Amino acid sequence: MKQPKPKKCKNCKQTFKPFRPLQAACSFECAIELNNKKKAKEWKVEKAKRKRELMTLQDWIKIAQATFNKYIRLRDKALNNPCMSCRRPLGDKYDAGHFFNANNHWNLRFDERNVHSQCVHCNRHLHGNLLEYRKQLEFYFGISFLNDLENDAHVTRKFTIEEVQEINELYKKKIKEL
Ligand SMILES: [Zn+2]
Ligand SMILES: [Zn+2]
Repeated sequence: MKQPKPKKCKNCKQTFKPFRPLQAACSFECAIELNNKKKAKEWKVEKAKRKRELMTLQDWIKIAQATFNKYIRLRDKALNNPCMSCRRPLGDKYDAGHFFNANNHWNLRFDERNVHSQCVHCNRHLHGNLLEYRKQLEFYFGISFLNDLENDAHVTRKFTIEEVQEINELYKKKIKEL
């Protein structure tokens, strides 16, 4: 009979001579350890799956909003844009600010036209510095852009979990492509 070729133990990585076909571990101990590792891995996958299944629409919106906002910040950084409201440089710490507030305007929550980078002062302390925000949107994009945005802001929109997951994936992809 032909001697089996030596191979590397999948557990301890040492070379051994298999005594049966498809043998992955060098010894009984390594076989047990390998099996435990496999089970632990499977459990980890299962746990992640269960966690995902328990996630609510609200959970997904939070995740997708974080991804979307990150995209907006990186987009504006790449364009070297200043704060949308006060036109000062953004610096290292800045926010993605909705013009039409996300909680009251679901239709524009994930709309790139409605979200621009703002300095922390404008976004947080001046609650968006909306008067300046409006002026700048009109100046840079025009009055018809602003009118369209206004019309779209008052359209009712409801998201499903699947839609929000898709948005999250889309913006993850867009971040990579920047
Ligand atoms: Zn081994
Ligand atoms: Zn500002």
